[in-house]
Amino acid sequence: MSEDIIKKKITFLTFLISYRCTNECKHYALQASPKQDNISIELEDVKRYMKDITSNYDIGEVGFFGGEPFLYFDLLVSLVEEAKKYDIPKIGLPTNGFWGKNSSIAKDYALKLKEAGLNHIGFSIDAFHQEFISLDVVKRAIKATYDAGIEWIHLIAHTVGSKNEKNSFNEQTKKIIDVLSKEFESLETITTDLQVKGRAARELERNYTMTTKLFDRCLYFKTPMFMIDPYGWVFHQSCLGICIGNAKKKSLSEIIENFNYRKHPIIGKLVAKGGPQNLLEMAIEKGYKPQDGYADKCHLCFSALNYLRPYYPNIIEPSNLYF
Ligand code: SF4
Repeated sequence: MSEDIIKKKITFLTFLISYRCTNECKHYALQASPKQDNISIELEDVKRYMKDITSNYDIGEVGFFGGEPFLYFDLLVSLVEEAKKYDIPKIGLPTNGFWGKNSSIAKDYALKLKEAGLNHIGFSIDAFHQEFISLDVVKRAIKATYDAGIEWIHLIAHTVGSKNEKNSFNEQTKKIIDVLSKEFESLETITTDLQVKGRAARELERNYTMTTKLFDRCLYFKTPMFMIDPYGWVFHQSCLGICIGNAKKKSLSEIIENFNYRKHPIIGKLVAKGGPQNLLEMAIEKGYKPQDGYADKCHLCFSALNYLRPYYPNIIEPSNLYF
């Protein structure tokens, strides 16, 4: 009989290095900003999380997110090295490319990360990011990653509504993608319509037509993908700000093992019949005055979560993500 243990799979495990960023993009649900707390995830914590989780689960991909991960470059290199020790097939990160201001620094950064084990990098570019960072800076960063031989390089763009919807943001984003795709021929672009939550709910709401339609259930929670932030909060990767435990207090494997999305006090409502509408009703019961309509289901959901926050300590967290 084989003695191999078949481990359960976690498709994607990400560490949120910090909520700080060089920019304060209008569309960003996480509200990353230069004004966010200067707190970063601790290397010792990540070492503990990795040891624990890899003993119990098979991890498909590890990501290092922010804020802007390159703001903590030395830490980032150590974190990538740590993930590499466990032979994770894909180790990646998204960046806004601000570090391409100087070609030789960009080259040095890209080489160090490649040597550490990074094999996947996404450049966040669109009308929102390019309000802060010139395309020439991003181009230098992209070139440095090509020259360093990082295997998967792609662009990540967010649109207001679907990418075919005509508005000034999407038109500008399209121009940015065209310029970069011409210069770097093999670059793929992943385009997603942004969720109207976090800062987007405040800054971009007026660009949407409000609707009163009933939204579908939110079923992303079925896929095993998780994120841990600097405070130890563990979220499902597709929706941050709804915690399933705190890995500084309890083992990460145990938190994930015990996570039953149907029984979670908030996620259970999102996956049940009625979906995010259930949260809206919970908020109304507590005194929330609903809007006449919402831009999308995340807008409705986030508005309810933001109101319900004081009633769900340790679940609707951390304050960095809410108003
Ligand atoms: S509807 Fe709610 S739970 Fe679903 S992705 Fe949007 S904000 Fe997250």
